[in-house]
Amino acid sequence: MKEKKIPMRMCVGCREMKPKKTLLRVVHGPDGTVSPDPTGRKPGRGAYVCPNAECIRTALKHKQFERAFECALSDEARQSLSALADKGGG
Ligand SMILES: [Zn+2]
Repeated sequence: MKEKKIPMRMCVGCREMKPKKTLLRVVHGPDGTVSPDPTGRKPGRGAYVCPNAECIRTALKHKQFERAFECALSDEARQSLSALADKGGG
């Protein structure tokens, strides 16, 4: 068995370390908008969150996205995150 290094990231919602692949990267772009980044290639600061409504909502509530992006979120950005939570179901 080969030992593989799995890149781990912390979910900003439940704050657990999880394999990067199982988390959703959310990017705060240079234009101040927030969008999910399934490819991990968008420019801007990223935050990782479990792709479920609970973690996204928790992160929103505790301002974890602001912390990860190191700046305030616009109403629009918050709305796209809530929409993302709704889409995730749960
Ligand atoms: Zn989580």
